[in-house]
Amino acid sequence: MTVNHKIVFLGESSVGKSSLVIRFVKRKFSPYQEPTIGAAFLSKKLTHNNVHFKLQIWDTAGQERYHSLAPMYYRGSSAAFVIYDVTQKVTFEKSKKWIDELKKLGDPNVQIAFVANKIDLAENQKVSREIGQNFADENGLTFFETSAKTGKNVDKLFLQMLDKLPKN
Ligand code: GDP
Ligand code: MG
Repeated sequence: MTVNHKIVFLGESSVGKSSLVIRFVKRKFSPYQEPTIGAAFLSKKLTHNNVHFKLQIWDTAGQERYHSLAPMYYRGSSAAFVIYDVTQKVTFEKSKKWIDELKKLGDPNVQIAFVANKIDLAENQKVSREIGQNFADENGLTFFETSAKTGKNVDKLFLQMLDKLPKN
């Protein structure tokens, strides 16, 4: 039996949403990742703890002009990853807005992970781990620090999420 889950990636443009998805699905990274137009869809089958999963991953564009499309992608999603870039404070502010919107308009059972990406750029870090972790704690979200570039915590991000999702 295969368990299907719809998963959405949200966050400001260029925070690394596509790069995280591609790192997980295709095991690679491109410094010249092309901007996503509208949204991209990737499907991934994997077996984790003896459960066969089929993930339908929606990688959204993030730009304001596509905002009205976002509900199509997060509605019906069992999991949402909200990403910010630790080197760009505005992306952290924007990620908080995505959390509010998901809580208001997303499925009541949606599992949300709050993700601080680009931690390989530590020398340019503008949003500290504490600030991210505190916001996540206050909102009952799991918090991850990732790098799509090095791959740090990318598998963990997905696999810990799968552990929380229904298995039927
Ligand atoms: P998206 O608009 O949120 O999908 O962001 P992209 O995945 O297109 O990434 C935007 C830019 O940031 C690209 O040049 C990526 O190569 C780069 N990038 C993404 N993730 C990381 C990361 O973890 N570390 C570094 N150094 N660069 C990253
Ligand atoms: Mg993208």
